[in-house]
Amino acid sequence: MSSSFIATTVVPVLYLLSAILFILGLKGLTRVRSAQRGNAMSALAMLIAAVAALVEMGTFDLQWIVLGLVIGGGIGALAAVRVEMTGMPEMVALFNGSGGAASALVAASYVWLNVIEKSSGETAANTAGVGSASAVTAVLSMFIGALTLSGSVVAYGKLAGKISGSPILLPGRHVVNLSLILGALGLGAYTLFTVTDPGSIAMYTLVVMGLSLVLGIMLVIPIGGADMPVVISLLNSYSGLAAAATGFVLQNNVLVISGALVGASGLILTQIMCVAMNRTLANVLFGGFGTADSGGGSEDNRDYTNVRSGGPEEAALVLENAESVVIVPGYGLAVAQAQHTVKEFASELEKRGVKVTYGIHPVAGRMPGHMNVLLAEADVPYEQLLEMDVVNPEFNNTDVVVVVGANDVVNPAAEKTPGSPIYGMPVLQVWNAASVIMIKRSLSPGFAGIKNELFEYDNTMMLFEDGKKAVQGMLTELKSL
Ligand code: NDP
Repeated sequence: MSSSFIATTVVPVLYLLSAILFILGLKGLTRVRSAQRGNAMSALAMLIAAVAALVEMGTFDLQWIVLGLVIGGGIGALAAVRVEMTGMPEMVALFNGSGGAASALVAASYVWLNVIEKSSGETAANTAGVGSASAVTAVLSMFIGALTLSGSVVAYGKLAGKISGSPILLPGRHVVNLSLILGALGLGAYTLFTVTDPGSIAMYTLVVMGLSLVLGIMLVIPIGGADMPVVISLLNSYSGLAAAATGFVLQNNVLVISGALVGASGLILTQIMCVAMNRTLANVLFGGFGTADSGGGSEDNRDYTNVRSGGPEEAALVLENAESVVIVPGYGLAVAQAQHTVKEFASELEKRGVKVTYGIHPVAGRMPGHMNVLLAEADVPYEQLLEMDVVNPEFNNTDVVVVVGANDVVNPAAEKTPGSPIYGMPVLQVWNAASVIMIKRSLSPGFAGIKNELFEYDNTMMLFEDGKKAVQGMLTELKSL
């Protein structure tokens, strides 16, 4: 094959194939049923894009590529295998940070190779083969990439409990942040458009990266640990924008396309999460809401006066005559890893002729789709997973709702208590069912840190126990009836 045929036909076709696979992969990820296929397609798209880039380069040091693949692939595979379902947001944070770092480093090395090393006594924007478009996008890529890296590391630290989850509100932070933004972008533009001395270009480029890294930290520390999943989704979008900017620097279309896909989908996801929590993005970013995560286990019963509780035996008696049961999973189900036991429990009910469905709130858990993924892992049929809008009208005709480790997403205050921090957040109206069995370990609040009056409703029975043990207990009792 002639090298011109490879450059003009093979490489563009491979890039096109890769871009199509990225789009189809993303489409696949929108449905639980096709998500694994979508993931595999996107991975294949990435592989094809990498191979096409190498073919385009023509000559390269294979040992460095193999070394990078082995180290990077090894770390990724190990992390993916070892991560717990509850630790997924932390892992996504670190992966976003790596994406941002990669984009920033590629843009910086482009400046290094083409401007600093080949110093022509010209500015970067005037250097042959670089030009103003590449100079602008290189600055953007370094800026967004570096702030995504440091912001993601802080988000990881907050979620993993390595940094305090409380919002850290420094005085004058908005002015500092604005100065950092203007400083980094201004210095970047100044460097690549007016500086000709290679030593100064190198130094200023490093300063731009440094300012961007500080900005990433400053942007994330004022946000509460519990809001981190929204921030991570936003940082995911930033990592896509950084990649798209790098695509412009390298004039690589598939990087522009895949970066734009990540940027847009991350932004849409951020918006979906904000709507489901009835918060604006500005409120999440500047509000200082969402202090440390619900620690769980601590007794906080001062606010409650009329709570009815029972054990698995009483719960089984309530369930014995039920014809329809809706199971509502929440963050506690993930903590307790109760998904398989819940599936067994549901199968036992179905064996007894009970109609079983699951009510899924869009922000139940700590990341989008958290519950769907957990329940899919336990082979719960997709048809039984009902979204909030579908299940809410059903509660009036439901005999028993079993809430496993959910709290805020079933809190009536969202509809009935104006002034409550979650007032206006769409919730699952479980209280409309004939009976509610509420499984959690104590009366302590959920992520929003507020009282839940559902615990005091006449038709609610609290079952204070770890989610898995409680469901196992009910299952054993049911079988003995
Ligand atoms: P919540 O955080 O409201 O409540 C979870 C409950 O689970 C706690 O009250 C806790 O009570 C209980 N729990 C913890 N561990 C266990 C266990 N081992 N066994 C049984 N129960 C347990 O969770 P929800 O899912 O109801 O709501 C999610 C919250 O997270 C919402 O406020 C949402 O806005 C927020 N959020 C969600 C995001 C997402 O994308 N999904 C993103 C950002 C925020 P106890 O300690 O008494 O056991």
